[in-house]
Amino acid sequence: MIEFKDVSKKYDGIFALSNVNLGIDDSEFVFLTGPSGAGKSTLLKLLIREEFPTHGEIYVDEWDIVHLPMERLPHLRRKVGTIFQDFKLLPQKTVFENVSFPMEILGLSDQEISRATKEMLELVRLSDKAYHFPYQLSGGEEQRAAIARAMIMRPDVLLADEPTGNLDPQSAWEVMQLLAKLNSLGTTILMATHNLDISSNLPHRKLEIKEGRVFSDSKKNVSAKEKIHK
Ligand code: ADP
Ligand code: MG
Repeated sequence: MIEFKDVSKKYDGIFALSNVNLGIDDSEFVFLTGPSGAGKSTLLKLLIREEFPTHGEIYVDEWDIVHLPMERLPHLRRKVGTIFQDFKLLPQKTVFENVSFPMEILGLSDQEISRATKEMLELVRLSDKAYHFPYQLSGGEEQRAAIARAMIMRPDVLLADEPTGNLDPQSAWEVMQLLAKLNSLGTTILMATHNLDISSNLPHRKLEIKEGRVFSDSKKNVSAKEKIHK
């Protein structure tokens, strides 16, 4: 469960987000849509405490994100995984090393790391590219490797900031199918995109952000329509 209560964020005196109230249930798949500059990335950054809100409260599974002590940030980042438009893979490391990196940092056993990494590579269909370097991959493969890395610690939530922004339509579609699969396995997904081709062709909930405000919420529209028909 993710909750924003009256959240505002100002940069240099200008509101990037104002009075955002929203709730996202466990295992939902939600698109954050809206034009460039609307505040989508800011909203995602607040969830992993990359930024602090100027006002308001944010909860992830009852964790008070705004007041979370610094030493618990690693726990938050394990609970909430992230992927980005530019993949952010480490160029000097192989796919296997990139994907296993979060487990390496935690000092887990080689056996455990090897088992979990192989399993994730199978899930994203990159087993045959395990010992390739990022420059040897297509964009779609790079993003699938980034997804495997984000998922290796089994986060409850995956934040995806324009994950298809650098991909051709076919690769974008494959990434969307992979995200849908992760969602069906129980991961809550919050994906920012300004690409209407992608969001409008899929059934998931759409939260439209405009000028820092929640402009529309397809979930609320549905319930409002249902009420009219009752
Ligand atoms: P989106 O992801 O929807 O394109 P952003 O959340 O990146 O939008 O940005 C929302 C607004 O906040 C924009 O006007 C942007 O210029 C501003 N902004 C974002 N990050 C910063 C920052 N670090 N410093 C100053 N302004 C920022
Ligand atoms: Mg953005």
